[in-house]
Amino acid sequence: MPPFNIITEMPYVLSLDEGTTSARAALYNQRGERIGMHSVPFECLYPHPGWVEQDATAIWRAQMDAASAVLLQAKIGAADIAACGITNQRETTVVWDRRTGQPIAPAIVWQCRRTADFCAELARSANSELIQNKTGLVIDAYFSGSKIRWILQNVPDACAKARDGEILFGNIDTWLIWKLTNGAAHVTDYTNASRTMLMDLATGEWDGDLLNVLDVPRAMLPEIRPSSGRVGMIHADLLGAEIPLSGIAGDQQAALAGQACFRPGLSKNTYGTGCFALTHAGSRQPRSVNRLLGTRAASLDATPQFAVEGSVFIAGAVIQWLRDSLGLISTAAESEAIAAAIPDTGGVHIVPAFVGLGAPHWDSSARGLICGLTRSSGKAEIVRAALESIAFQSRELIDAMEADSGETIRELRVDGGAAVNNFLMQFQADILGKPVVRPADVETTALGAAYLAGIAEKIWSGAEEVESFWRVERRFEPQMSETERASRMDAWNTAVRRTK
Ligand code: ADP
Repeated sequence: MPPFNIITEMPYVLSLDEGTTSARAALYNQRGERIGMHSVPFECLYPHPGWVEQDATAIWRAQMDAASAVLLQAKIGAADIAACGITNQRETTVVWDRRTGQPIAPAIVWQCRRTADFCAELARSANSELIQNKTGLVIDAYFSGSKIRWILQNVPDACAKARDGEILFGNIDTWLIWKLTNGAAHVTDYTNASRTMLMDLATGEWDGDLLNVLDVPRAMLPEIRPSSGRVGMIHADLLGAEIPLSGIAGDQQAALAGQACFRPGLSKNTYGTGCFALTHAGSRQPRSVNRLLGTRAASLDATPQFAVEGSVFIAGAVIQWLRDSLGLISTAAESEAIAAAIPDTGGVHIVPAFVGLGAPHWDSSARGLICGLTRSSGKAEIVRAALESIAFQSRELIDAMEADSGETIRELRVDGGAAVNNFLMQFQADILGKPVVRPADVETTALGAAYLAGIAEKIWSGAEEVESFWRVERRFEPQMSETERASRMDAWNTAVRRTK
């Protein structure tokens, strides 16, 4: 008997997409088409200014509810699923008791700033260069290492238990896999591990020097595995039958895979609250001189794959600000028609440095501004300038990536909530001088995790086959002249200088 029914669409691939505000589950058929998706939200807690926490057990429950619901909705049984992939909010830190399976503290979310002072001290210390060279990261509270340290130092007896391996660390991927396998697998993948500030980016191993600097015992850390490959089985009691767990990647790296960017030079930009741009760097470790992050890209085998990453802190959030704080618009979608109705902003610029500036500036003391106002500036000019600011900031990331790699990025693949805005995408193409390409399936994160799992279980033969699934929905060609582009960038750079 074949393991699956070849007359129908079986086998299916399940993707568990655990984000910052909701846990989602998506199902794909053999042609890589999404046939179902279900999302279950969970709470975020803000116990002190700058602190962000979540309940890891609530995340686990939300993820299981989403998985059960999508199976029910699509009328598909677990036995028909040949592979499951997991993608997750990165850096968020869970520490739990190996015996009871109970977290010993709330999960510390990636956005949490509680270890910012410690990290600032670390950045000034003699270890600063060692950390940045080994990890490819800029020292920051964002990454998991200082979050683990905080839990060990603030929960009674945690240090000793961690040394004895009685408590375990995981990012959300590791935590979910441990729960899904009933504690049989304590693993992560290279993409997630590269965001902990504990892994040597080149070797892909936990690094003794980094563990010492951050006081993290090796006994509590998961095994690091390639992003595509079986790591265990989902226990039959959970969804009704065993399912191979065969793909893992952090959300941004999963999106890179979901955009079929498996080769050097291919880039994607995700337009959400912030922007996350990643360019695949192949098997050569990137060394950024433009203050971007070096990170692991999802690997299909044991050969390391790298990416360069840059992020903009405030992107879609500037549109939320127009809506919620200024009341200039009532929905984010409205911004498109308002901006498109005028030919330009009449010299108005908004630099939304609300929380400082990210890559390539890394200036946490910069603050936002609106400049170039005249008596004829009105709502439309401001709305348009806000949308343009998203594109200008993204152009800065892409410029830095090209300068780092010495290679030209030919086109930019886009996704995320604000990528539906056609005005923004056209302006992005204009200001980049490169085509911007929006795929038919913009749920690239879930799709990427499905690809990684499906390739591992031989549902798909490899990168080439899943690349053939990728479909363009719309391609935006640059229409702005070189001269105009240069003068627009000059004006933007002047505005940015004023925020510092
Ligand atoms: P996240 O995953 O960060 O929560 P999403 O990918 O869901 O974000 O995108 C939501 C963001 O996109 C919000 O900041 C919102 O203001 C912005 N956004 C949504 N729709 C549009 C639109 N049509 N035009 C511009 N921005 C939009």
